[in-house]
Amino acid sequence: MTNFNLELIRNDFPIFKRKINGHYLAYFDNAASSQRPSAVIDAEKLFNQNNYANVHRGVHTLSAQATILMENVRNQVARFINASSKDEIIFVKGTTEGINLIANSWGSKITHKDNIIITEMEHHSNIVPWQLLAKRVKAEIRILPLKGGILCLETLSRLIDSNTRLLALTHVSNVIGVTNPIKKIIDLIKSCGIITVIDGAQAVMHHGVDVQDLGCDFYVFSGHKIYGPTGIGILYGRKNILNDMPPWEGGGAMINNVKLPYGTTWNDIPWRFEAGTPNISGIVGLGAALNYIKNLGLDVINKRETSLCQYAQKKLSLIPNITLYSHLNSVGIISFNLGKHHAFDVGSFLDQYGIAIRTGHHCAMPLMRYYKVTAMCRASLAFYNSEQEIDRLVSSLIRINHLLNN
Ligand code: PLP
Repeated sequence: MTNFNLELIRNDFPIFKRKINGHYLAYFDNAASSQRPSAVIDAEKLFNQNNYANVHRGVHTLSAQATILMENVRNQVARFINASSKDEIIFVKGTTEGINLIANSWGSKITHKDNIIITEMEHHSNIVPWQLLAKRVKAEIRILPLKGGILCLETLSRLIDSNTRLLALTHVSNVIGVTNPIKKIIDLIKSCGIITVIDGAQAVMHHGVDVQDLGCDFYVFSGHKIYGPTGIGILYGRKNILNDMPPWEGGGAMINNVKLPYGTTWNDIPWRFEAGTPNISGIVGLGAALNYIKNLGLDVINKRETSLCQYAQKKLSLIPNITLYSHLNSVGIISFNLGKHHAFDVGSFLDQYGIAIRTGHHCAMPLMRYYKVTAMCRASLAFYNSEQEIDRLVSSLIRINHLLNN
C-alpha cells in the first residue's frame, strides 16, 4: 500500500466504533497493548471454528492442519525478523516469558564469578529475571547508566571485564521512546564474547528488525503490542546458542525419549523450549497480525508514526506547565507530567473525555528515579491515531489543568 488512507485503516479496527464515557475512543495506550484489526480477530475465530485441534500429537486431519498452521507462522516470524532459520523462533507467552526462559536456561551456565550488564532504562521484565538469576548463583549485576536521557556508552567499556557474560538491553524504551544504537553497541562488545539479549517489545511494531544485521544473540517481543493476541510472543535465539541450552520447563513435546527413573533426552530446537500445549489460536492470530502489517508496509507505518509523533510533541510542548520526558526522536511514545498534578488524576480526567493513556511507573521504577518522579503520563501512538485525536488530547489537558488548578 503506498497511499495511507486513515479512514479505511480505522475501519479495520472495530473498537474505534465504540464510545467511552460518551466520547469516541481516542486510544493512546498502544505501548501497553495495541488494538487488533478484524483480520486478527477473524483469523482466531475461523481457526477455532474450522481447524481447532491440538498440535504435534495427532494423526487426524484437524491436528495435522493445526500443526501446519502453527509451523507456517514460525516461518513467517523468521522472515519478519530475518532469522536464518525457523528453528531459531520459539513461541512463548510474551517478552517477559522469553527473557525468563533465557535467564533460566542459558543462565544455568552463570556462576558466582560472572557478571551481567543491564541498563538503567529497562522494563522490569528485563531487570527482575536477571536479579533472580544473580541471586540464585551469587553473580553480579552491573548497570549501564543514562546521561542526558540516553545510554552513557563511554561507561560501557569500564563495566566490561573478562567475567562479563551477558548484556541485556531494550531496543526502544517504553517510557522515553528512544531507540538505542543496538548495532553499534553489539559491534563494540562482539570481540569480548558477551551474549546480547535485546528486548524488542517496543521496537518491532514501529520499524523493520533484522536480527542478522543487528548481530544479536537473542531478540524478544510480544504479540499483543504488534496488533496480535495476548498470551503469545517470540523468542529469537541464534541456532548454535539454542542448541547448547538445556530445557527450562519439562512436559510434552519437548522430549525425545522419556525413561524411568532417569535418562530422558530432549527434542531438537525450537520444540525443546515449548513444553505443553502452546497458545495455538494466539499463534494463528499473530500470523494474521504480521500479514496485516506486511500489507500496510512497515515503512508506511514508520513514516506515519514519525509524523504523528512530531505533531504530538510540538502541540503538547505548547501546554504551559507540561514536562516532556520523551526523546525528541521518540518512536511513538510521549511521556509527560502536567505541573504537580498526579499522573493518576490526569489519566482519570482524560478517561472521562474518552481518551486512554497510561499512568504510573510504566514498570520502569529505576528510570522514574532517574527523572526524580514516581509516576508519569504516557501517550503512545499507533498509525491509526489521528491528528484530531492529538488535538483532543491537548485541549483536554488544557481543560484538566484549569480544573485542577482551581
Ligand atoms: N519490555 C518492554 C520494553 C515493554 O514495554 C514491556 C511491556 O510493556 C515488556 C517488556 C513486557 O511485555 P509483556 O508484558 O508482553 O511480557
